[in-house]
Amino acid sequence: MRPMPRPIEALIHAPALAHNLARARACAADAKVWAVVKANAYGHGIAAAYEGLRGADGFALLDFAEAEQLRQLGWRGPILLLEGAFEARDLELCSRLRLWHAVHCQEQIDWLAMHKTHEPHRVFLKMNSGMNRLGFTPSAFRAAWTRLNALPQVDEISLMTHFSDADALRFGQDGIAHQLAAFEAVTQDLPGERSLSNSAATLRHTPRVRSDWVRAGIMSYGGVPDYPEHDAAHWDLRPAMTLRSRIIGVQNLQPGDTVGYGSSFTADKPMRIGIVACGYADGYPRHCPTGTPVLVDGRRSRTVGRVSMDMLTVDLSDLPQAGFGSEVTLWGQGPKGSVLHIDEVARAGGTIGYELMCAITRRVPMHLEALG
Ligand SMILES: *Cc1c(COP(=O)(O)O)cnc(C)c1O
Repeated sequence: MRPMPRPIEALIHAPALAHNLARARACAADAKVWAVVKANAYGHGIAAAYEGLRGADGFALLDFAEAEQLRQLGWRGPILLLEGAFEARDLELCSRLRLWHAVHCQEQIDWLAMHKTHEPHRVFLKMNSGMNRLGFTPSAFRAAWTRLNALPQVDEISLMTHFSDADALRFGQDGIAHQLAAFEAVTQDLPGERSLSNSAATLRHTPRVRSDWVRAGIMSYGGVPDYPEHDAAHWDLRPAMTLRSRIIGVQNLQPGDTVGYGSSFTADKPMRIGIVACGYADGYPRHCPTGTPVLVDGRRSRTVGRVSMDMLTVDLSDLPQAGFGSEVTLWGQGPKGSVLHIDEVARAGGTIGYELMCAITRRVPMHLEALG
């Protein structure tokens, strides 16, 4: 007999992924949708994400092993490498797996120029329109395009850029205007498909941004890029990941008793607390302070004291029915239709939903809720 695992698990909801993808489609008007599945599908697992997102027009990622996994799962459509090749020989893999790839620097053009291939490549030439991460500056962009366009190794050139502030204002002004203007000024008369918008731009700026392909990352997983200005209900997004566990111990506190390492929480009245089998070694953020929301049997409560490696503690004072064995939802879909959005937990911990999703550790078993 296999030993019983700890009660913690992550559930990946394929129906929620499919719903969120449909939301991206609805927002993106006529554009095609890249489901962004980098970082092991934002922690959801490539195979599980594929189950819910196979209706996308393509998959965008940056790791060759993940691209290979998608091909093994049977995906024959477009795959885009968002950071392109990291070394010359990566182009052989691009040829073999039929991967489209970003070209953001001269080195990548040099490698293409030396690459021996029977099938010319489709590339996405990236402009640094103001984020100052990857890409050719507006003044270098056209020369890069001309150089690529002259290569027999290159078939079709698409144009891309990435917004730094699509989720908010920038210095109190429109967050994307300066980048959009820089991109359009240089690319106006160039042929080729365009890909500009991430989730935030897809949700907030679609009518303004002409995009043939949007890149839907966080919204595919039900994360809200502009939380707390807007929430999941506003954008009609559903959590694709539930992290849940159980109460494995109960303590009754007297006033003055403290909880956990560092005694950061002190009871000011008699109270009951539950010890949950979930800690930072599972990926729950250690930074989440007393008061971080959780669901116990689908009812809202809060954490008390510090998160430790394998456990955290929740307040049961207002939940007399709850106790040993109660189900605890750290984020996602709880019992009886209850929901705790990951953005709310992330905010309590001073971070964003993206980081929490990606941080679930290997010791947490993942299970898939298949499409209905
Ligand atoms: C990660 C990434 C995206 C997706 O961003 P979200 O905010 O998760 O939608 C889009 N484009 C590029 C280049 C990325 O690296």
